[in-house]
Amino acid sequence: MTQRLYYDDSYIREFSARVVERLTVDDHPAVVLDQTCFYPSSGGQPNDRGTINGVPVSDVIARDGDAAVVHVLAAPIEADDVTGQVDWNRRFDHMQHHTGQHILSQAFVTLEGAATVGFHLSADSVTIDLSRTGLDAAAISRVEDLANQIIFDDRPVTARLVKPEDADGVRIRKLPEHLLTDGLRIIDIQDFDVTACGGTHVSRTGEIGSLKIVRVDKRGDKSRVEFRCGWRALNDYRIKNTLVYQLTSALTCGMDELPQAVQRLQDSLKTMQSDLKSARQQLLDEEAARLLTAAPEFGRVRLISLAFADRDAAEIRLLASRLTQTAGVIALLGVASERAHLVFARSADLTQDMNALLQQALASIDGGRGGGQSALAQGSGTGTPAQLQAALDAAERVVSAQ
Ligand SMILES: [Zn+2]
Repeated sequence: MTQRLYYDDSYIREFSARVVERLTVDDHPAVVLDQTCFYPSSGGQPNDRGTINGVPVSDVIARDGDAAVVHVLAAPIEADDVTGQVDWNRRFDHMQHHTGQHILSQAFVTLEGAATVGFHLSADSVTIDLSRTGLDAAAISRVEDLANQIIFDDRPVTARLVKPEDADGVRIRKLPEHLLTDGLRIIDIQDFDVTACGGTHVSRTGEIGSLKIVRVDKRGDKSRVEFRCGWRALNDYRIKNTLVYQLTSALTCGMDELPQAVQRLQDSLKTMQSDLKSARQQLLDEEAARLLTAAPEFGRVRLISLAFADRDAAEIRLLASRLTQTAGVIALLGVASERAHLVFARSADLTQDMNALLQQALASIDGGRGGGQSALAQGSGTGTPAQLQAALDAAERVVSAQ
């Protein structure tokens, strides 16, 4: 069993040790040392990083069975006597959040009768899962206030070992299967919380700096509470402050007025979209009327055959349907944009098969595919504008010859 130096002092960042075993983990070299201050992933807290004899430590694993701490390395180490160095910024962040979690969990128990049933700590987020739902904003604020009061009190945080049978009143989230120490390790936040835990903690609550809940989500019959402590809380505040400043500058309003300013923008956008829609419809109606007046007649059919450059295919479909609302109209419309689009439509009183006509026309366009019904058919291909025009001309000849 590796002697875990962080049990007695979580502030040791550098240590000397002897290699007692060399092994490989997933093709990476790894060592077991007689003692270490590297924390292995466990209890919701991720492993430490750092170096051993200058070689980066990529993972730290607590081995099942003998509880050895396995250090996975970026390269093999030849020496038997080594010096380890823990990435202190990462570790201290974990200490702040782990101790913060103890305080937050106890604050939820004290004020809201909500027990912590899960804990997750990673570089992206820190969360606890609570045994109940229905915590409103006022409850969250009360819990935050109590947690920060305990932090500002700068209370001592101590670790001690007790016999499991003497652990009455100690909050134990999950009893370890076998103890790695000569008793149950108890973390005591003076006159506030006593919890069994094998993690790394700060020695006074003031070192946590502050604690802020940033999000509460309902998860079935539980609540997931995301929070930040210390440097992460400061960084989060910095990012959000910058964001709010950018938004208030862009919208020329105060922070309190942001929700209303955004609401006003959304409302005016909705009005403009609806105005734009009716203006477009009006333009299409006028365009359709103009085209119908100028259209040549073949027997009882008025024929409109037109190729547009770079126009929205959906708009062409609308134009075709506008045109064919008038009796006796055939509309052969094309768009030569990135792809060549064709829309063939006829009025309900006519009988010509637009789908058959379209299939014929698509045959002269590269990659031409499409379909539809007798009254309306559409298709597209990769063909050139010249191919599109030729296809329209051919269709026009068929209609005018009928
Ligand atoms: Zn802990």
